[in-house]
Amino acid sequence: MILLDGKMVSEELNLKLKNKVDSFDVKPQLDIILIGNNPASLSYVKGKKKAASLVGITTNLHHLDENISQEEVERLINSLNQDEKVDGILLQLPIPKHLDQEYLMDLIAYEKDPDGFHVVNQGKLFQKRKTIYPATPKGIMTLLDYYNIPIEGKSVVVVGRSNIVGMPISKMLLDRNATVTICHSKTKNIKEITKTADILVVAIGIPKFITKDMVKQDVVLVDVGINRVDEKLVGDADFDEIKDIASYITPVPKGVGPMTIHSLLFNTVLLYESKNTK
Ligand code: NAD
Repeated sequence: MILLDGKMVSEELNLKLKNKVDSFDVKPQLDIILIGNNPASLSYVKGKKKAASLVGITTNLHHLDENISQEEVERLINSLNQDEKVDGILLQLPIPKHLDQEYLMDLIAYEKDPDGFHVVNQGKLFQKRKTIYPATPKGIMTLLDYYNIPIEGKSVVVVGRSNIVGMPISKMLLDRNATVTICHSKTKNIKEITKTADILVVAIGIPKFITKDMVKQDVVLVDVGINRVDEKLVGDADFDEIKDIASYITPVPKGVGPMTIHSLLFNTVLLYESKNTK
Protein backbone atom coordinates (compact mmCIF):
# COMPACT_ATOMS: atom_id res chain seq x y z
CA MET A 1 0.00 0.00 0.00
CA ILE A 2 1.16 3.49 -0.83
CA LEU A 3 -0.09 6.38 1.28
CA LEU A 4 -1.54 9.28 -0.70
CA ASP A 5 0.25 11.76 1.52
CA GLY A 6 -1.72 14.98 1.13
CA LYS A 7 0.31 16.72 3.81
CA MET A 8 3.63 16.07 2.10
CA VAL A 9 2.33 16.84 -1.40
CA SER A 10 0.56 20.02 -0.31
CA GLU A 11 3.70 21.26 1.46
CA GLU A 12 5.73 20.71 -1.69
CA LEU A 13 3.16 22.41 -3.91
CA ASN A 14 2.62 25.27 -1.46
CA LEU A 15 6.36 25.92 -1.57
CA LYS A 16 6.20 26.14 -5.38
CA LEU A 17 3.31 28.55 -5.05
CA LYS A 18 5.30 30.60 -2.54
CA ASN A 19 8.15 30.96 -5.01
CA LYS A 20 5.69 32.37 -7.52
CA VAL A 21 4.05 34.71 -5.00
CA ASP A 22 7.50 35.92 -3.90
CA SER A 23 7.95 37.34 -7.39
CA PHE A 24 4.78 39.50 -7.10
CA ASP A 25 5.22 43.10 -5.95
CA VAL A 26 1.66 43.28 -4.63
CA LYS A 27 0.56 40.13 -2.82
CA PRO A 28 -2.72 38.31 -3.53
CA GLN A 29 -5.40 38.98 -0.91
CA LEU A 30 -7.92 36.49 0.40
CA ASP A 31 -10.79 37.71 2.57
CA ILE A 32 -12.44 35.10 4.78
CA ILE A 33 -15.94 35.57 6.19
CA LEU A 34 -16.56 33.48 9.28
CA ILE A 35 -19.95 33.74 10.97
CA GLY A 36 -20.32 32.47 14.53
CA ASN A 37 -18.06 30.12 16.47
CA ASN A 38 -18.55 26.63 15.06
CA PRO A 39 -15.43 24.85 16.45
CA ALA A 40 -14.72 22.94 13.21
CA SER A 41 -15.03 26.15 11.17
CA LEU A 42 -12.72 28.00 13.57
CA SER A 43 -10.13 25.28 13.14
CA TYR A 44 -10.48 25.19 9.31
CA VAL A 45 -10.14 28.97 9.09
CA LYS A 46 -7.06 28.88 11.30
CA GLY A 47 -5.51 26.26 8.99
CA LYS A 48 -6.33 28.28 5.88
CA LYS A 49 -4.90 31.50 7.33
CA LYS A 50 -1.71 29.74 8.41
CA ALA A 51 -1.16 28.07 5.03
CA ALA A 52 -1.91 31.34 3.19
CA SER A 53 0.63 33.24 5.27
CA LEU A 54 3.31 30.59 4.57
CA VAL A 55 2.66 31.04 0.85
CA GLY A 56 2.70 34.85 1.12
CA ILE A 57 -1.00 35.44 0.49
CA THR A 58 -2.49 38.18 2.66
CA THR A 59 -5.63 37.15 4.53
CA ASN A 60 -8.27 39.32 6.17
CA LEU A 61 -10.61 37.59 8.55
CA HIS A 62 -14.10 39.07 8.94
CA HIS A 63 -15.32 37.24 12.04
CA LEU A 64 -18.99 38.11 12.35
CA ASP A 65 -21.45 37.61 15.16
CA GLU A 66 -23.67 34.52 15.06
CA ASN A 67 -26.78 36.77 14.98
CA ILE A 68 -25.65 39.08 12.21
CA SER A 69 -28.40 40.08 9.78
CA GLN A 70 -28.62 39.00 6.16
CA GLU A 71 -28.36 42.67 5.09
CA GLU A 72 -25.12 43.20 6.97
CA VAL A 73 -23.48 40.13 5.40
CA GLU A 74 -24.70 41.28 1.98
CA ARG A 75 -23.21 44.72 2.61
CA LEU A 76 -19.85 43.18 3.49
CA ILE A 77 -19.82 40.92 0.41
CA ASN A 78 -20.78 43.83 -1.84
CA SER A 79 -17.98 45.96 -0.45
CA LEU A 80 -15.42 43.14 -0.90
CA ASN A 81 -16.69 42.60 -4.45
CA GLN A 82 -16.01 46.27 -5.18
CA ASP A 83 -12.61 46.37 -3.45
CA GLU A 84 -9.85 46.18 -6.07
CA LYS A 85 -7.36 44.80 -3.53
CA VAL A 86 -9.46 41.71 -2.80
CA ASP A 87 -8.67 38.72 -5.04
CA GLY A 88 -10.66 36.03 -3.26
CA ILE A 89 -13.70 35.97 -0.96
CA LEU A 90 -14.33 32.85 1.04
CA LEU A 91 -17.56 32.34 2.95
CA GLN A 92 -16.79 29.63 5.51
CA LEU A 93 -19.61 27.10 5.58
CA PRO A 94 -21.86 26.21 7.30
CA ILE A 95 -23.43 29.56 8.15
CA PRO A 96 -26.25 30.09 10.68
CA LYS A 97 -29.67 28.91 9.56
CA HIS A 98 -31.34 32.36 9.53
CA LEU A 99 -29.07 33.42 6.66
CA ASP A 100 -29.78 32.61 3.00
CA GLN A 101 -26.65 30.64 2.11
CA GLU A 102 -27.48 30.18 -1.56
CA TYR A 103 -28.16 33.87 -2.05
CA LEU A 104 -24.94 34.89 -0.28
CA MET A 105 -22.84 32.43 -2.28
CA ASP A 106 -24.34 33.77 -5.51
CA LEU A 107 -23.62 37.31 -4.37
CA ILE A 108 -19.85 36.74 -4.22
CA ALA A 109 -18.38 37.84 -7.57
CA TYR A 110 -17.58 34.67 -9.48
CA GLU A 111 -14.23 36.23 -10.43
CA LYS A 112 -13.41 36.28 -6.69
CA ASP A 113 -14.48 32.73 -5.83
CA PRO A 114 -11.42 30.68 -4.78
CA ASP A 115 -13.63 27.85 -3.49
CA GLY A 116 -15.08 27.35 -6.97
CA PHE A 117 -18.58 27.06 -5.48
CA HIS A 118 -20.21 29.89 -7.41
CA VAL A 119 -23.07 28.80 -9.64
CA VAL A 120 -21.33 30.38 -12.66
CA ASN A 121 -18.07 28.56 -11.98
CA GLN A 122 -19.90 25.28 -11.41
CA GLY A 123 -21.93 25.87 -14.58
CA LYS A 124 -18.71 26.30 -16.51
CA LEU A 125 -17.33 23.10 -15.00
CA PHE A 126 -20.41 21.18 -16.08
CA GLN A 127 -20.05 22.57 -19.60
CA LYS A 128 -16.36 21.64 -19.66
CA ARG A 129 -15.21 25.25 -19.96
CA LYS A 130 -12.18 26.84 -18.34
CA THR A 131 -13.12 27.72 -14.77
CA ILE A 132 -12.06 27.90 -11.17
CA TYR A 133 -12.37 24.28 -10.05
CA PRO A 134 -13.87 23.58 -6.62
CA ALA A 135 -11.10 23.27 -4.06
CA THR A 136 -11.62 19.76 -2.68
CA PRO A 137 -12.15 17.99 -6.04
CA LYS A 138 -9.24 19.90 -7.50
CA GLY A 139 -7.11 18.81 -4.54
CA ILE A 140 -8.10 15.18 -5.15
CA MET A 141 -7.20 15.39 -8.85
CA THR A 142 -3.86 16.99 -8.01
CA LEU A 143 -3.12 14.22 -5.52
CA LEU A 144 -4.02 11.42 -7.98
CA ASP A 145 -1.88 13.07 -10.66
CA TYR A 146 1.04 13.58 -8.28
CA TYR A 147 1.15 9.79 -7.77
CA ASN A 148 0.62 9.18 -11.52
CA ILE A 149 -2.51 7.14 -10.89
CA PRO A 150 -4.16 6.35 -14.23
CA ILE A 151 -7.72 7.61 -14.57
CA GLU A 152 -8.69 7.10 -18.19
CA GLY A 153 -10.88 4.04 -18.70
CA LYS A 154 -10.91 3.22 -14.99
CA SER A 155 -14.02 2.30 -13.11
CA VAL A 156 -14.57 5.07 -10.57
CA VAL A 157 -17.23 5.03 -7.89
CA VAL A 158 -18.04 8.26 -6.04
CA VAL A 159 -20.08 7.89 -2.87
CA GLY A 160 -21.85 11.19 -2.08
CA ARG A 161 -23.45 13.74 -4.39
CA SER A 162 -22.91 17.11 -2.70
CA ASN A 163 -22.42 20.29 -4.73
CA ILE A 164 -19.00 20.83 -3.22
CA VAL A 165 -17.48 17.34 -3.50
CA GLY A 166 -19.48 14.43 -4.93
CA MET A 167 -20.93 16.07 -8.03
CA PRO A 168 -17.91 18.11 -9.16
CA ILE A 169 -15.37 15.31 -8.57
CA SER A 170 -17.61 12.98 -10.61
CA LYS A 171 -17.60 15.47 -13.48
CA MET A 172 -13.86 16.08 -13.27
CA LEU A 173 -13.14 12.35 -13.34
CA LEU A 174 -15.58 11.90 -16.21
CA ASP A 175 -13.73 14.64 -18.10
CA ARG A 176 -10.59 12.53 -17.66
CA ASN A 177 -12.39 9.63 -19.34
CA ALA A 178 -13.11 7.53 -16.28
CA THR A 179 -16.32 5.53 -16.18
CA VAL A 180 -18.04 7.10 -13.20
CA THR A 181 -20.82 5.71 -11.02
CA ILE A 182 -22.34 7.92 -8.31
CA CYS A 183 -23.83 6.38 -5.15
CA HIS A 184 -25.87 8.23 -2.53
CA SER A 185 -28.13 7.72 0.45
CA LYS A 186 -30.86 6.03 -1.62
CA THR A 187 -28.55 3.69 -3.56
CA LYS A 188 -29.48 0.02 -3.21
CA ASN A 189 -26.81 -2.66 -2.82
CA ILE A 190 -24.08 -0.09 -2.45
CA LYS A 191 -21.49 -2.74 -1.59
CA GLU A 192 -21.95 -4.46 -4.97
CA ILE A 193 -21.19 -1.15 -6.66
CA THR A 194 -18.26 0.00 -4.52
CA LYS A 195 -16.65 -3.41 -5.07
CA THR A 196 -16.37 -2.66 -8.79
CA ALA A 197 -14.28 0.48 -8.21
CA ASP A 198 -10.69 0.81 -9.36
CA ILE A 199 -10.83 4.24 -7.73
CA LEU A 200 -13.28 4.82 -4.88
CA VAL A 201 -13.98 8.37 -3.68
CA VAL A 202 -16.04 8.66 -0.50
CA ALA A 203 -17.58 11.94 0.68
CA ILE A 204 -20.58 11.31 2.91
CA GLY A 205 -19.70 12.24 6.49
CA ILE A 206 -20.33 8.84 8.13
CA PRO A 207 -17.38 7.51 10.16
CA LYS A 208 -15.89 4.25 8.84
CA PHE A 209 -18.85 3.66 6.49
CA ILE A 210 -16.66 1.90 3.91
CA THR A 211 -15.40 -1.41 5.29
CA LYS A 212 -13.03 -3.94 3.81
CA ASP A 213 -15.80 -6.13 2.39
CA MET A 214 -16.92 -3.16 0.25
CA VAL A 215 -13.73 -2.74 -1.77
CA LYS A 216 -11.80 -4.84 -4.23
CA GLN A 217 -8.16 -5.81 -3.97
CA ASP A 218 -5.81 -2.96 -5.00
CA VAL A 219 -8.47 -0.25 -4.91
CA VAL A 220 -7.32 3.38 -4.89
CA LEU A 221 -9.25 4.83 -1.99
CA VAL A 222 -9.77 8.57 -1.59
CA ASP A 223 -11.45 9.35 1.71
CA VAL A 224 -12.84 12.88 1.86
CA GLY A 225 -14.79 12.48 5.10
CA ILE A 226 -13.81 14.34 8.23
CA ASN A 227 -15.67 13.09 11.28
CA ARG A 228 -14.97 13.85 14.91
CA VAL A 229 -15.25 10.69 17.02
CA ASP A 230 -14.11 10.80 20.67
CA GLU A 231 -12.04 13.93 19.99
CA LYS A 232 -10.28 12.18 17.10
CA LEU A 233 -10.68 12.77 13.37
CA VAL A 234 -11.72 9.75 11.33
CA GLY A 235 -12.67 9.37 7.70
CA ASP A 236 -15.63 7.79 5.94
CA ALA A 237 -13.62 4.60 5.40
CA ASP A 238 -12.11 2.21 7.90
CA PHE A 239 -8.47 3.00 7.17
CA ASP A 240 -6.97 0.28 9.39
CA GLU A 241 -9.09 -2.43 7.80
CA ILE A 242 -8.58 -1.33 4.22
CA LYS A 243 -4.95 -0.25 4.18
CA ASP A 244 -3.68 -3.76 3.44
CA ILE A 245 -6.10 -4.28 0.55
CA ALA A 246 -5.69 -0.89 -1.12
CA SER A 247 -2.96 -0.06 -3.61
CA TYR A 248 -3.18 3.62 -2.62
CA ILE A 249 -5.11 5.21 0.24
CA THR A 250 -5.51 8.68 1.76
CA PRO A 251 -5.15 9.00 5.52
CA VAL A 252 -7.56 11.11 7.58
CA PRO A 253 -6.35 13.60 8.65
CA LYS A 254 -3.46 14.67 6.38
CA GLY A 255 -4.94 13.33 3.17
CA VAL A 256 -7.53 15.32 1.21
CA GLY A 257 -7.79 18.13 3.81
CA PRO A 258 -4.40 19.79 3.17
CA MET A 259 -4.86 19.30 -0.58
CA THR A 260 -8.11 21.27 -0.34
CA ILE A 261 -6.25 24.13 1.33
CA HIS A 262 -3.53 23.98 -1.32
CA SER A 263 -6.19 24.26 -4.07
CA LEU A 264 -7.78 27.20 -2.31
CA LEU A 265 -4.45 29.04 -2.32
CA PHE A 266 -3.70 27.95 -5.89
CA ASN A 267 -7.11 29.30 -6.98
CA THR A 268 -6.51 32.58 -5.13
CA VAL A 269 -3.27 33.05 -7.06
CA LEU A 270 -5.08 32.20 -10.32
CA LEU A 271 -7.74 34.82 -9.58
CA TYR A 272 -5.02 37.37 -8.78
CA GLU A 273 -3.21 36.60 -12.02
CA SER A 274 -6.34 36.80 -14.13
CA LYS A 275 -7.25 40.16 -12.52
CA ASN A 276 -3.81 41.47 -13.36
CA THR A 277 -3.86 40.32 -16.97
CA LYS A 278 -7.25 41.94 -17.72
P1 NAD B 1 -22.92 16.50 2.44
O1 NAD B 1 -22.86 16.38 3.92
O2 NAD B 1 -23.44 17.71 1.79
O3 NAD B 1 -23.78 15.28 1.85
C1 NAD B 1 -23.55 13.96 2.18
C2 NAD B 1 -23.73 13.09 0.95
O4 NAD B 1 -23.57 11.76 1.37
C3 NAD B 1 -25.09 13.21 0.28
O5 NAD B 1 -24.90 13.39 -1.10
C4 NAD B 1 -25.77 11.87 0.56
O6 NAD B 1 -26.53 11.39 -0.55
C5 NAD B 1 -24.60 10.95 0.83
N1 NAD B 1 -24.96 9.96 1.82
C6 NAD B 1 -25.46 10.17 3.06
N2 NAD B 1 -25.68 8.99 3.68
C7 NAD B 1 -25.31 8.02 2.81
C8 NAD B 1 -25.31 6.62 2.86
N3 NAD B 1 -25.74 5.95 3.94
N4 NAD B 1 -24.87 5.94 1.80
C9 NAD B 1 -24.43 6.58 0.69
N5 NAD B 1 -24.40 7.94 0.58
C10 NAD B 1 -24.84 8.63 1.63
O7 NAD B 1 -21.48 16.10 1.83
P2 NAD B 1 -20.12 16.90 1.78
O8 NAD B 1 -20.33 18.34 2.11
O9 NAD B 1 -19.52 16.49 0.49
O10 NAD B 1 -19.28 16.28 2.98
C11 NAD B 1 -19.01 14.91 3.10
C12 NAD B 1 -17.88 14.67 4.06
O11 NAD B 1 -16.70 15.24 3.53
C13 NAD B 1 -18.05 15.33 5.43
O12 NAD B 1 -17.45 14.50 6.39
C14 NAD B 1 -17.25 16.61 5.31
O13 NAD B 1 -16.77 17.07 6.57
C15 NAD B 1 -16.12 16.14 4.44
N6 NAD B 1 -15.45 17.20 3.67
C16 NAD B 1 -14.09 17.20 3.69
C17 NAD B 1 -13.39 18.12 2.95
C18 NAD B 1 -11.90 18.07 2.97
O14 NAD B 1 -11.25 19.02 2.58
N7 NAD B 1 -11.31 16.95 3.36
C19 NAD B 1 -14.06 19.07 2.19
C20 NAD B 1 -15.46 19.02 2.15
C21 NAD B 1 -16.14 18.08 2.90
